[in-house]
Amino acid sequence: MNGSWRLGKIAGIDVYVHFTFLILLGWVAISHYTTTGSFAAAAKGLAFILTLFGIVVLHELGHALAARRFGISTRDITLLPIGGVARLEKMPEKPAQELVVALAGPAVNVILALLLYVWLQFGPGLQPTEQAIQVGGRFLDQLFWVNVSLALFNLLPAFPMDGGRVLRALLALRMDYVKATQIAASIGQTIAMVLGFLGLFSNPFLVFIAFFVWLGAAQEASQVQIRSALSDTPVSRAMLTDFRTLTPTDSLALAASHVLAGFQQDFPVCEGTRLVGILTRSRLITGLAEKGESSQVGELAETNFESVSPDDLLTAVLPRLQESSLQALVVLEQGKLVGLLTAENLGELLMIREALKQSGSARAPLG
Ligand code: ZN
Repeated sequence: MNGSWRLGKIAGIDVYVHFTFLILLGWVAISHYTTTGSFAAAAKGLAFILTLFGIVVLHELGHALAARRFGISTRDITLLPIGGVARLEKMPEKPAQELVVALAGPAVNVILALLLYVWLQFGPGLQPTEQAIQVGGRFLDQLFWVNVSLALFNLLPAFPMDGGRVLRALLALRMDYVKATQIAASIGQTIAMVLGFLGLFSNPFLVFIAFFVWLGAAQEASQVQIRSALSDTPVSRAMLTDFRTLTPTDSLALAASHVLAGFQQDFPVCEGTRLVGILTRSRLITGLAEKGESSQVGELAETNFESVSPDDLLTAVLPRLQESSLQALVVLEQGKLVGLLTAENLGELLMIREALKQSGSARAPLG
């Protein structure tokens, strides 16, 4: 995710923190300081948030390790102010598995809350709730409440919260996955609106959370829709076949004129029929600024690029296109360049299909 820093690796999974988590840290330190006027209280507040941070990692590990049981690995874990995100290689396809993976995170909090509860009951006794949740409440009591609230909050039936996935999985046991996602997403957005509205009158942080929830629901719904619209479609249906190529000895001036003439953003660089690199628009612009327009394309072309085959399925290559630093994936057939695949092509394909569907001829040329 953009704006994230890598912290380290746990159980073979990279852990990142998103910069907005720092806003939360700042907010806690300042609010502790202004309510108590002491630096010690602010430091305790920070220590508390950092412990919270550890609990969130455990929560995400709950998801990741449950997914691992179903043979799904986790790319990374990112910590956001509203919780963490474990990016699984893919979502479990069976609703029952998705249900287990979604519940595994909150289950970690339930277990931690139970352990803390038992520890406190047999030790000093639980502090009254009002006392515990105030600034200056006892640390372990606060941790107990944190785990209770994390479990409850994450089980809110709204994407990107676990409860959204639980809801979708339960619906998907009875209906089509796309339909289940749409219903779950609209329930999530309704909850986001209510949260945001309540936040306006109580806590600005709630508005912030509502915003994330709203986005999460929209994103999930559109991703699933795209996936289903593109299922079973090979790359060859969407790829750009009318494009310009350059040779390593072409000048940057020629490349710039192609860009201005309205051709694609990234240009395959070929030596005869062999693809040797890609000149991206950003490299072209940097090259023009640093070396001038008479320098050669070959000096600036990116030689580390990804290729796909025309028979690959779009659903399989989509994540690679989204993660690639290039705007286009090159399509090679037996080593020969036959096309380019860009996000724009995919968007166009989806639009055309949608239009055909409306005209009632969905099974026409694009299948
Ligand atoms: Zn979770």
